[in-house]
Amino acid sequence: MAVSEEERKRALLILERLERAYPDARVELNYSSAFELLVATILAAQCTDAKVNQVTAELFKKYRTPEDYVKAPVEELEDAIRPTGFFRNKAKALKGCCQKLIEEFGGQLPDTVEALASLPGVGRKTASIVLGNAMGKQTIAVDTHVKRVAQRLGFTSSNKPEQIEKDLKELFPEDKWTRATNLLVFHGRYTCKARKPNCLECVVYDLCPWPEKP
Ligand code: SF4
Repeated sequence: MAVSEEERKRALLILERLERAYPDARVELNYSSAFELLVATILAAQCTDAKVNQVTAELFKKYRTPEDYVKAPVEELEDAIRPTGFFRNKAKALKGCCQKLIEEFGGQLPDTVEALASLPGVGRKTASIVLGNAMGKQTIAVDTHVKRVAQRLGFTSSNKPEQIEKDLKELFPEDKWTRATNLLVFHGRYTCKARKPNCLECVVYDLCPWPEKP
């Protein structure tokens, strides 16, 4: 669907306001490399960032490379990540992901969404988060916040993450994709919440077409 100039202007104005409201918007997972962000993002499924940060504070001291995850006895890895929930699946995903990283990519993270998302346990959303925040790429990562806020703000009429990603990429200039993602996540987390959005204190209230706003 073609995007009108007016829509692009409204979208940029919304971004400017969100930038002023959340100047510190960023991924709230702690990491010191793209590989660590990949691990943290896998652990963050169905878990809070704060809990993941508690776990990775210890985990990253002991497990530094993909080889460390592959070599570790599975029970030991499960124990180390247990507080993040779904620890058996996550341990399996981490091991499978690191195995493939070593076998197919020489232990280095590939730098496209498609290649990263081909790793076990890594979806398009995770791949986009890692590429956008730790590898200097421009990406749109559609998580639950981005999806909801984009829908309420009329940036998309789709429910499907891949279509929402396309719609947002069409709407925003490429050099703003990663920033737009982090701003929409923060807005969703702190103001445009799922159950009780705080519309009356929202900085983009006048630009929001959501029919249910008070
Ligand atoms: S006005 Fe309400 S629904 Fe619209 S973006 Fe703001 S918080 Fe979300």
